[in-house]
Amino acid sequence: MSKRTCDGCGRRVRIGGNRGNLWQFDTASPEGITLELTDGTEHFLCFACVDALPEEPTAAAVDSLPPREESTQSAAPLISPTGVTVGLVSAIVLALIGGVVLDDLTTGLMVGGALGAVIGLLVDRAR
Ligand SMILES: [Zn+2]
Repeated sequence: MSKRTCDGCGRRVRIGGNRGNLWQFDTASPEGITLELTDGTEHFLCFACVDALPEEPTAAAVDSLPPREESTQSAAPLISPTGVTVGLVSAIVLALIGGVVLDDLTTGLMVGGALGAVIGLLVDRAR
């Protein structure tokens, strides 16, 4: 797998390999592309940087691209703030309803809390 340094952010990214053949495909897709800019200069850029370039990119625009972390794996939290908020609100509402319906606030709280957590996760996934 060939790699090349992105001119914009300095990351090492995959480029379209030529090692694939009929029997052994180079299945990993390339992560960058060589662009010829409007000012005639050529730059190898990862797709993230290509996306960040202005409409008519110049060498100066490439130079001003921000550096990126080597790893694209961002440590996203398991559940987003939106999911937590929705889950909490659902849990409280369901706990109150459960407490009234079941005439047992403790059970209502547990059931409501569990359902609220599930709803929060579902809301998070659905986005
Ligand atoms: Zn880049």
